[in-house]
Amino acid sequence: MSFKKFELDDRLIQGIDSMGFENPTPIQEQVIPAILDGKDMIATAQTGTGKTAAFLLPIVNKIITTKHDDHIKALIIVPTRELAIQIDQNLEGLAYFTHISSLPVYGGGAGDLFLREKKALIHGADIVTCTPGRMQAHLKMGYVSFKDLKYLVLDEADRMLDMGFYDDIMNIISHLPEKRQNLLFSATMPDKFRSLAKKVANDPLEVNIAISKPPDKILQVGFVIYDNQKVSLLKHVLNAKHLKSVIVFCSKKVMAKELNRELKKAGFSSYDIHSDLDQETRNKVITSFKNKQHMVLVATDIVSRGIDVDDIDLIINYDVPSDGEDYVHRVGRTARAESKGAAFTFINKEDQQKFSNIEKLLGKPVSKAKLPEFLGEGPAYDPKPEWGKKHKKKFHSGTKKHKKHFRKK
Ligand code: AMP
Repeated sequence: MSFKKFELDDRLIQGIDSMGFENPTPIQEQVIPAILDGKDMIATAQTGTGKTAAFLLPIVNKIITTKHDDHIKALIIVPTRELAIQIDQNLEGLAYFTHISSLPVYGGGAGDLFLREKKALIHGADIVTCTPGRMQAHLKMGYVSFKDLKYLVLDEADRMLDMGFYDDIMNIISHLPEKRQNLLFSATMPDKFRSLAKKVANDPLEVNIAISKPPDKILQVGFVIYDNQKVSLLKHVLNAKHLKSVIVFCSKKVMAKELNRELKKAGFSSYDIHSDLDQETRNKVITSFKNKQHMVLVATDIVSRGIDVDDIDLIINYDVPSDGEDYVHRVGRTARAESKGAAFTFINKEDQQKFSNIEKLLGKPVSKAKLPEFLGEGPAYDPKPEWGKKHKKKFHSGTKKHKKHFRKK
């Protein structure tokens, strides 16, 4: 399912393409239409699920398709400087082909940063992402105007409340026009968040987009590996005597077909399943897998959610899935009911950042196993933001961005 169905402005579709996003994540599917519809929202959402783009895309779309002036239209309040920078970078990527101006406002940094922020706030920016304390400091000076503000986002609201920002947040909100769209995101739903939401949001839609984590009884292991070592490792793992039922997941159907051929050639009893097969054939493949008539099922994500096969010994992620939810669904195919299970993930260099995002979502690192000696060394595990690499030349960061902001004005 592509982003096209949201009928977003072409300039945003270009931005989405340049970020390398092919399909919306489940959260984006749920949230984008509701925000475009103008609804207030409280959402349980965790980092790693694509929630940032889920609120940025509809907000930017609404701003660029309405009359343009220099006033602040959207305010995003976040707990930390790092999150403010991250959101602002996401915004620069997604909105690169639009005329939107954005400004991160956060504590720390040298004194002249405060002055630059002040200047930019006086000029106005379409979207301001701020930490509560820093915005309070600017508000006290009296030059910030929110008179045309239409959208308020609180991100990681539970964390902000834990950090004691309740009064700051409420004070900032007291400066905003009453008529606005409120979008509140929180990883958990403690009572204090609910009571804040009651005061801030107007008849909000409640969305639960948090994902459940895989049960502890599943042994999760990562293999950091070069692409040309993957097939050999797969065959090596599948040769373990005790295995009766294994699903090998890969993201692309061509890869599923090719791997299945390789495994068959090597003597494994294996079938593939993907969207090129008609429903009847898929059902047959799944039934024979359920009945343990073949040991390996090489699958794309079409089976990661639906199938309920007991006693799967091992899940192998031949590549790292694009989002955390797919990972959890894939891994959740093993250790159903009372049985134990294991999930191995092959992590090549390009997938390291994706995997590190998944680890963040799981709340802990997945242990990495040494490759068997005959394969030689794999790469080091050193995840780097994909975004930074891809857009290094195109975009500015930190203080340079403020200069860009002024150039735009
Ligand atoms: P977030 O949950 O917003 O922190 O996003 C987690 C990661 O997923 C970030 O690196 C995003 O750039 C990436 N991401 C967000 N939406 C998509 C998508 N539709 N397809 C692929 N990656 C995405």
